[in-house]
Amino acid sequence: MSPMFVPGPVDVHPDVLAAQTRPMLPHRSKEYEETFHRAENNARKLFGTQNRVFICASSGSGLQEAAVRNFARKSVLSCVNGAFGNRWHSVAESNGKDAHKLEAEWGQPVTPKVVAEALGRKEYEILTVVHNETSTGLQNPVDEIAAAARRVSPETLICVDAVSSLGGAPIEMDAWGLDFVLTSSQKALALPPGLALGATSDRALDRAKTVPDRGWYFDLVKLEESRIKNSTPATSAVSLVYALDYQLERILEEGLPARFERHRAMAERVQAWALARGFGLFAPEGYRSRTVTAVENLLNMDVPALNAFLMGRGMRIANGYGELKGKTFRIAHMGELTMNDIEALLDAMDEFMKT
Ligand code: PLP
Repeated sequence: MSPMFVPGPVDVHPDVLAAQTRPMLPHRSKEYEETFHRAENNARKLFGTQNRVFICASSGSGLQEAAVRNFARKSVLSCVNGAFGNRWHSVAESNGKDAHKLEAEWGQPVTPKVVAEALGRKEYEILTVVHNETSTGLQNPVDEIAAAARRVSPETLICVDAVSSLGGAPIEMDAWGLDFVLTSSQKALALPPGLALGATSDRALDRAKTVPDRGWYFDLVKLEESRIKNSTPATSAVSLVYALDYQLERILEEGLPARFERHRAMAERVQAWALARGFGLFAPEGYRSRTVTAVENLLNMDVPALNAFLMGRGMRIANGYGELKGKTFRIAHMGELTMNDIEALLDAMDEFMKT
C-alpha cells in the first residue's frame, strides 16, 4: 500500500476494506442490530461520553447542519479561524439562522477569553467550534473554550467539530462539558468516506425537542427513537457500519493512549523536520495539530512539483488550503500511518530538495 499523507480521505487498512465485503444483512435484523449496537458502544469510548453516538449515512458536514437545525431556533455563534469554522457559519446562515462569527486570524487559536467576551455581550443558543482546523493545522483549546463558555453562558450548547481529530487526539466530551461532537469516517478513524458520527448530550437532546423545523433526515429526536432500538429511521449504510465496527475494535486493541501517542510522536517528528530545513510552522507552539501539520513554505518550494516527485514513489501530501495554497503545504499524520511511513516521506522530501 502506498501511503497518503493527505488529511482525508486517508488510507484504509486492507482488513477494514475487506470487512465491507461481508454479505448484506437487512438493517432491521437482530444480527445487524447487534453490530450497530457494538459499534455505537465502542464509538462512545473515543468521544469520552456515556451518552449516545448517532451513526449517520453522510459526511461530517451533514452533522454540522444537524447541530444548527436541532439546537438553535435562531442564534448561532461560530468560532472561525479557518475554512471549516467558516463552513459551519455558512451552514447556519444558509439554514436561515441569526448566524454570527467570532473570528481569529487563520493560524491563530480562538481563545477562551474572546469566547467569554462574545457570550457576555449577547446570548446565543449554540456555540460552534472546530477542534482541529484541517486547513491550518491548528488545534483550538476546546476544553478551555467550553469551560469559559459554560461559566459565562450556561445555557449555550457547545458544539464541536472533531472531524480531523477524533481517533487521533484525546477528546473528553463529558469531562469537558461538550454538548455535541461530530466527526467524519475518512480522517483519523481511517475508514472510507460516507459515515458521520455525532455524540450528543442529554441536555442537547432535550433542547432539540423544543426546536421546531428540525427537518427529517437529521432530526436527532427521531434518530434517538431509533438508536435506542439499535437502528436508524432510514436505511443504514450497512457495509460502512461493518467497517466501522471492525475498525473500532482494531483501534481499541491498539489502545487509545498508544494511538494518541503514535499521532503525537509523528506530529513532533514532522514539525522538527520542517523547522530544521528552514520552513516555518503555520500554527503557534501549544496549538499545533496532532493529526496534520501545516508547513509554512518559507523556502518557496514548488508544491505541485514536490507532489509529482512523491507520487513517483507512491506517496502524496496536500497543498495549502484555499488561499494558503503554495504559502503552506500540509503533511497529514493520522489513521494507519506509522513513524516508518513518516521517515520514508521525509527522506523522499530531502531527496527532492537536493534535486
Ligand atoms: N470539518 C473539518 C475540520 C474538516 O477537515 C472537514 C473536511 O475536510 C469537514 C469539516 C467537512 O467534512 P466532510 O467532508 O466529511 O463533510
